Amino acid sequence: MRLSRYFLPVLKETPSEAQIASHRLMLRAGMIKQASAGIYSWLPLGFKVLRKLENIVHEEQIRAGHIPMLMPTLQSADLWKESGRYDAYGPEMLRIRDRHDRDMLFGPTNEEMITDIFRSHVSSYKDLPLTLYHIQWKFRDEVRPRFGVMRGREFLMKDGYNFDLTKEDALHAYNRHLVAYLRTYERMGLQAIPMRADSGPIGGDDTHEFLVLADTGESEVFYDSAVTDIRLGARDIDYDNVDQCQAVMEEFTSLYARTDETHDEAVFNAVPEERRRSARGIEVGQIFYFGTKYSDAMGATVQGPDGKSVPVHMGSHGIGVSRLIGAIIEANHDENGIIWPEGVTPFHCGIVNLKQGDAETDAACETLYAALVKQGLEPLYDDRNERAGGKFATMDLVGLPWRLTVGPRGLKNGVVELTSRRTGESTELSLDEAVSKLAEIYAPHRSDIAHP
Ligand code: ATP
Ligand code: MG
Repeated sequence: MRLSRYFLPVLKETPSEAQIASHRLMLRAGMIKQASAGIYSWLPLGFKVLRKLENIVHEEQIRAGHIPMLMPTLQSADLWKESGRYDAYGPEMLRIRDRHDRDMLFGPTNEEMITDIFRSHVSSYKDLPLTLYHIQWKFRDEVRPRFGVMRGREFLMKDGYNFDLTKEDALHAYNRHLVAYLRTYERMGLQAIPMRADSGPIGGDDTHEFLVLADTGESEVFYDSAVTDIRLGARDIDYDNVDQCQAVMEEFTSLYARTDETHDEAVFNAVPEERRRSARGIEVGQIFYFGTKYSDAMGATVQGPDGKSVPVHMGSHGIGVSRLIGAIIEANHDENGIIWPEGVTPFHCGIVNLKQGDAETDAACETLYAALVKQGLEPLYDDRNERAGGKFATMDLVGLPWRLTVGPRGLKNGVVELTSRRTGESTELSLDEAVSKLAEIYAPHRSDIAHP
């Protein structure tokens, strides 16, 4: 992309309504524009990051054997009356009446709708296990929308639902989700710690929230610091292997890590004192096992191997896709702007032309641009007629992890400069070397599953 032809409305001034870094930086970097309280337009740069996160989520869900689909944002109230949640959900639910006076609502989540789909089409245990998911906009009329996309009213969520014959199978689905979520967050350059949580209005027996540690987080958390040393890394996971998923789950959840809702001072005090931590965290996902709560209420049964009809065991699992952008920025920025992790960056590198209009410098930039594209990389080329200082400031604000600086002085020696946004370190490289270096850096971040 050439910056001169892109739409990147960066702001010089710090917007006064933004209280936290991620909100400020998303506004300043021209990623979002507020449409009304808690509702945002996703400008091209923000939209690009959102799509990247969606792709990672899809890939990791599909890898775990879960099946993508898409349900509508508007739902009929009838299903919610059936489950009993139409009244229980309260003022967070946006209720709408259509021209025929039918009660509708903008979905805050989809347990009812998916259970209805399930009961309409599945009647035998032979069709189980089944996990369906979608990535769709949700609406919750939050009392206090704030912190930009972090607590919006309209927000993008991945929500998935498992249907299993037995509790044991449903717990395997739970563990599978836990592992797939860990992988998802790690690919986004985040450490999200699974913490035992409270089930709240969804109801259920077992639930973990995933929290990214950040001073601006809304949740208070307590944990054993040893939990921050564990990574999934590149290990191979066989999602059909019950024991392996269980082992990973236990590895990540046996150390003390809880939100304030489930915090138990006595148990916490058994953690060696030097490892006890209390901090703030951002909830970026949650998994639930809730047994037969919805299948009982809505008659979602299958015929078991013995011919008897039994309610299915279910769980639901959510990732806050749009909130994650805020969380990633909270964890990755400095005073000059965002610092995108390689896995989610909107463009792979910036190209700064120090002398726009100079034939040789322009040509070198074009050569680099074409060579990067050929490698499957997306550069953002600042080809505007601006002074170097302004170009650097924009690149720092936008936060691409790598910048190529191209000027007549370097080109005289056949080199350009490759600079890391995170460390500020620069190396001089020939054009060819720069391109292969970037291809090498991004090799581990390529996707290997075709998304839906
Ligand atoms: P919270 O406690 O933050 O209100 P929740 O527990 O009600 O969230 P879930 O129903 O678990 O949310 O939804 C799954 C994920 O969706 C959450 O983990 C969070 O990342 C995201 N999410 C929930 N509410 C919002 C919101 N208002 N804005 C942005 N993301 C949200
Ligand atoms: Mg939650």
